[in-house]
Amino acid sequence: MKASAQSQSLLIELQLIDNALVGAANRLRAIPEREQITAILTRLAKSAEELAVVEAELADVTIDLRRSEIDVEQVAERMKKDDLRLSSGGASPKELESLQHELVSLAKRKSELEDTELEIMLRHDSVKTRVEELRSDEVGLQKLELELNVRLENSVAEIEKEIAVKKAERIALTPQIEQPLLDLYEKVRTSNSGMGAALLVGNTCKGCNLAINAIEVERIKTLEADEVLRCEECRTILVRI
Ligand SMILES: [Zn+2]
Repeated sequence: MKASAQSQSLLIELQLIDNALVGAANRLRAIPEREQITAILTRLAKSAEELAVVEAELADVTIDLRRSEIDVEQVAERMKKDDLRLSSGGASPKELESLQHELVSLAKRKSELEDTELEIMLRHDSVKTRVEELRSDEVGLQKLELELNVRLENSVAEIEKEIAVKKAERIALTPQIEQPLLDLYEKVRTSNSGMGAALLVGNTCKGCNLAINAIEVERIKTLEADEVLRCEECRTILVRI
C-alpha cells in the first residue's frame, strides 16, 4: 500500500490520541472511590442490620426497666402504708406484730427488687451505649460516602471532559488521513491490542521495541517515502521519521 508521508505521520498523532482515549477509559473504570463507596455501603448495610437488632433489644430492656421500677415503687408504697398504720397507734398488739413481720419481709423483697432493677439498669445503659455508637458510626459513614461521591463525580467529570477533548481532536484529525491508510490503521489497531501505528526509530519498531533485521532495514532504505511499512514482529504500521 502507498500513502503520503504526511498521512503516515498523522497516524502517529492519531495513535497518541487513541492511547489517551484508552488510558482515560481505563482510569474511568478504575477510579478508587468506586470501590471505597461499595465498601462503605456494605458496612452501612451491616450496621443497619445490627442497629435494628440492638434498637429492638433497647425497647425490650426499657420496658423491663419500667416494670422493675413499678415493682419497687409498689413495695415502697406498701411499706409506707404499713409504717403509717404502725405509727397511728390504733393497731392492736397482734396487728402490730403482724405489721412488723410484714415490714421485714417487704424490706427484704424491696432489696431484691432493687438489685434486679440495678442489673436491668446496667444492661439498659450498655445497650443504649451500643445504639448510640452504631448511630454515630452510621452518621460518620454516610458523611464519608457523600464526600466520596462528590470526589467520584468530580473525577468522572474531569476524565469525561478529557475524553470529549480527545474525541474532538480525533474527529478533526481523521479527515486529513487518506482513507485506505486510516482503514488499515483501524484494522491493525483492533487486532493488535490498540496499537495501529508506531514510529521506526533507527532500526527499532517503537510498537514492540524490537529491532528490525539488517536485511529488512536495507530494503526499507530503498523504498519510497509513500510506501506503507509494517513491522514484521507486531504487524504495526511503521512510520519513518
Ligand atoms: Zn513492531
